[in-house]
Amino acid sequence: MGIPDEDVARVRAATDIVALIGEQGALKRVGQRWVGLCPFHTEKSPSFSVNAEAGFYYCFGCQASGDAITFVRETEHLDFVDAVRRLADKAGITIREDGNSGRDNQKRKIFLDAMEQATEWYHHRLLTAADAGQARDYLRSRGYDGDVVRRFRLGWAPDGWDTLCVGLKLSEDVAVGAGLGFVNRRGRIQDAFRARVLFPICDPSGNPVALGGRVLPGSTDPAKYKNSTETPIYSKRRTLYALNWAKQDVIKSGEVVVCEGYTDVIGFFEAGVPRAVATCGTALAEEHVRLLKNFATRVVLAFDADGAGQAAAGRFYEWERTLEIDVAVAALPPGSDPADLARSDPAALKAAVEGAKPFLQFRIERILGAADLSTPEGRARAADHALAAVAEHPDDLVRDQYVMQVAERCRLEPASLRDGPRTPAAKPSRTERTPSRTPASSDDRDPRGYDGPPDGPEPEWDEWDDGPVPADNGRRGATAEFRPGLEALRLAIHRPEEVGDRLEPVLFSDPTQRAAFTALMDADDLGEAIDAAPGRVQALLVRLTVEEPRSDPDEVVVQLVRDTVRRELPLLAVEARTSTSAMEQAAAAALGLQELDDPTRRAEAARRLVAWLLVRAQQNGIGQDA
Ligand SMILES: [Zn+2]
Repeated sequence: MGIPDEDVARVRAATDIVALIGEQGALKRVGQRWVGLCPFHTEKSPSFSVNAEAGFYYCFGCQASGDAITFVRETEHLDFVDAVRRLADKAGITIREDGNSGRDNQKRKIFLDAMEQATEWYHHRLLTAADAGQARDYLRSRGYDGDVVRRFRLGWAPDGWDTLCVGLKLSEDVAVGAGLGFVNRRGRIQDAFRARVLFPICDPSGNPVALGGRVLPGSTDPAKYKNSTETPIYSKRRTLYALNWAKQDVIKSGEVVVCEGYTDVIGFFEAGVPRAVATCGTALAEEHVRLLKNFATRVVLAFDADGAGQAAAGRFYEWERTLEIDVAVAALPPGSDPADLARSDPAALKAAVEGAKPFLQFRIERILGAADLSTPEGRARAADHALAAVAEHPDDLVRDQYVMQVAERCRLEPASLRDGPRTPAAKPSRTERTPSRTPASSDDRDPRGYDGPPDGPEPEWDEWDDGPVPADNGRRGATAEFRPGLEALRLAIHRPEEVGDRLEPVLFSDPTQRAAFTALMDADDLGEAIDAAPGRVQALLVRLTVEEPRSDPDEVVVQLVRDTVRRELPLLAVEARTSTSAMEQAAAAALGLQELDDPTRRAEAARRLVAWLLVRAQQNGIGQDA
């Protein structure tokens, strides 16, 4: 990518985000924000907010969020560089493309042109040439008629040394650079594909960037499939076959089917599921999923995901968490592949996608299905295997539900299974709570009407206390709680001078909020903080830019200090059994808490308690993520 950071910043600064988003739908000014109907989901009352000054948008209904560049990427399905170019054009800004990136762009264009010409040349050859008769017979035998051949622009590479390169008069630079040819040992240029049926691989806009070639049955060539080498226009980790054709249905349905082979994809299209893509001779990688995330939030794997095995499981769970997508597995009949099923029973192929199951469910069913559940010994063994799979899931609530399922199937007591498999297996845990820090008794409640639990991590940040959440989405109501952590972040964003240097990371018990605060502290401005923050933290920060603080900063700081000190008290009580210093600290902390209630002394008390918390944090690693 060739756009310098300063130029990206100039484009951002020159873009009027309200005008940009306003092109898609009316925005109305409400206080500091602009609100309107969300362009990313269907709604009747507006829950989409824009902060013009900070340059960010956030939807309270579907959680879409970002800046002007994100907006263009998501509404026009462009990559980062193209989105910046689009905005630069709009704002009349010339982006400095340094010598290199200018040359690179020119080269890319030449390679794309060559690839387009070659695709058309091979396609024409398949449709008309005499030497393609065998290829046409083969495709017909697979059930591909002329419509399929034209729709997917299939081609035929003749059985010659340099038929394409000579036919298109490709220079060595272009042929080699675009991956269409190579220089052989005698220094002559030679075609990369020979005697193969070709599947053009395109970028999401439909420009061919590579080719996949399959030999005909009976060929002596040991490599059944062969793909273009990586080139400046083709990276296999970032490319998905058929995304250009599937894009529309993927967006419409919010779901994408991922296969392993080009013919599987075509099978899905033929069976009436036109939202299938395939990796190009590589395993599904994070870059693929990031690309798909622009179009859909649910990924259905249509290959033997069990074969992909345990190593893949960890990746899938990680993507579910960090990229906020769902990974499911199509319920294909064992031993069948989509391409064959599409011909023998297209309805079954469609049903397999409709009946897709969460990845962990799929694995457990595989394990239990293969087990002997007729004897106590068999059931115990099956339970152990299934629990080993369950233990890999990072979410304890999810784990718990599958434990109950395994217990029921294996006729065991759930309680006896909760600790996981009896054969040792690593049990990942992302639980940040430690037992000694769990809630204290209810008489710790704050007398001032904050009815949130005074201790323990704050829950997920989608539970919030104010703002234009539609009344019917069920999150609000009598249980709405004051969340000092979120309010402190809003203040740190919107009125930093009023909280000054009174906030510290140690005051945030929720890891996402703490990371958000740290990001704000470490950056020179809000935009920089958002750029540098990881996904979840970034989403939180962007959302808070469109929420205004409504509380008195002093109250918020005092409440945060109070909550944090209270979380420390049970720990101190334990330490005090063996340490007089801890006993003294506990007494001082209790006194400090009392002083927090005294308006004339609370500022000083808060300062002292924070200083003490910082020392403790340093000693105990509190407030730092492992
Ligand atoms: Zn929305």
